[in-house]
Amino acid sequence: MDYTKLSILEVSKLLHDGSVTSEELTKQVLNNIKQKQNLHALTSVCEEYALKKAREVDALFKKGEKLPLLAGVPITIKDNINIKGLKTTCSSKFLENFVAPYSATIVEKLEQNYAVIVGKNNLDEFAMGSSTENSAFFTTPNPYNLEYVSGGSSGGSACAVAANLGFAGVGTDTGGSVRQPACLCGVVGLKPTYGLVSRYGIVAFASSLDQAGPLTKTVKDSAIMLNALTGYDEKEETSVKREKEDYLTSFSGSVKGIKIGLIKEIGSDGMDVEVKEKLESVIEFYKNQGAEFVELSVPFVNNALACYYILSSAEAASNLARFDGVKYGVSVFDAKNINDLYLKNRSNGFGKEVKRRIMLGNYVLSSGYYDAYYKKAKKVQKKLVEQFNKVFESCDVILTPTSPTPAFKIGEKANNPLSMYLSDVYTVPVNIAELPAISVPCGFNKMGLPIGFQLIGKKFSEKTLFNVADVYDSKNGEAK
Ligand code: GLN
Repeated sequence: MDYTKLSILEVSKLLHDGSVTSEELTKQVLNNIKQKQNLHALTSVCEEYALKKAREVDALFKKGEKLPLLAGVPITIKDNINIKGLKTTCSSKFLENFVAPYSATIVEKLEQNYAVIVGKNNLDEFAMGSSTENSAFFTTPNPYNLEYVSGGSSGGSACAVAANLGFAGVGTDTGGSVRQPACLCGVVGLKPTYGLVSRYGIVAFASSLDQAGPLTKTVKDSAIMLNALTGYDEKEETSVKREKEDYLTSFSGSVKGIKIGLIKEIGSDGMDVEVKEKLESVIEFYKNQGAEFVELSVPFVNNALACYYILSSAEAASNLARFDGVKYGVSVFDAKNINDLYLKNRSNGFGKEVKRRIMLGNYVLSSGYYDAYYKKAKKVQKKLVEQFNKVFESCDVILTPTSPTPAFKIGEKANNPLSMYLSDVYTVPVNIAELPAISVPCGFNKMGLPIGFQLIGKKFSEKTLFNVADVYDSKNGEAK
């Protein structure tokens, strides 16, 4: 039997009752990875490491130990997250041979839950992009149609989950990088509240916006993953100290009386017709389930994209300054002096998009422009936070599409950064306001490409998000 199509919840039962061993399961997943190499979803596969872990878990199961739900379940991790002793490339030429000296806190947490990590996922270089076309190695195509993109930057993680190359993936989301690829590949993607999941050991893009989150086949699996990923981390200064929640207690199966907000400033401009139709059917579904809809105004929501590209690039320029070929990364041998060394290493090591962000970031931070761009963007951010706080007084969650269009063709937007950046128009406001949001699949367009919707919650309301999302996910057959 092929177990790899099951959800974590389903396969976990089989592991616990002894119907399947983690070793068998891991071998099946590794076999899928071999069979589907044309998907380029992984930058590296850690076969030996995974089989060793799987056998260790099997021995514990045999001893009759009570193990967590994730025990023995094969998963994949985005390649900007450190696993000690394995490569972290960030899909960059710069870090092609970089071996992580320590593991990210979330990797330790997953290992404490006995999850079996089988490989690292391809991404846009340093997580900058919306299609994985900025990976220095290869593009991850859409598993439903190889001529289309998988989204980005966690395209490898989304594609891997959709193609059964692991029961879940872990991505990072700075402006939509978990939710947008999840949407384009037809899986569930969660961006947790800023500070809920430790960033320690994850290569920083824009530290004030970065947050890791799970990509899974179902909403309930997302809750299982979040249970493993959360918890205060003293090694990370933005990690929040709050009592650990059990997200598996989120599910009441009902949305009766739940107030769902629709933002009136999000019109249908730039929204694909089929995405709009699907969103309307999702609204219908929730109405029939007893939810109430309210119209809200978030006037600054359309300024979020500009604000995001200023703030994230500014932080990226500063974070990426450490990559000079001396402390990290590949280095040339023929430099005339230190400046020449930096120039050559950084020119050779970084790809086009990363260079664009560094230049943009340094520009908006430079004297004379700082007030006009960076400072102004910070003001817009403050306003947006206030506006979201206000609307959450009159609703429980907000509904939007995740992405304005389904997957686009590989190459279609590669030479037009602005149209690429617009893929994130509905996802970036969430990061700017430090909120949680989840992308849920809601069917396919006529071409057979997935469509998804997004639910946004107030800070730390992941449980509400899970419940509302799950009502659709488990009751609506259309998306399956
Ligand atoms: N696509 C967005 C960008 O290019 C978001 C990336 C992300 O969330 N890591 O910046």
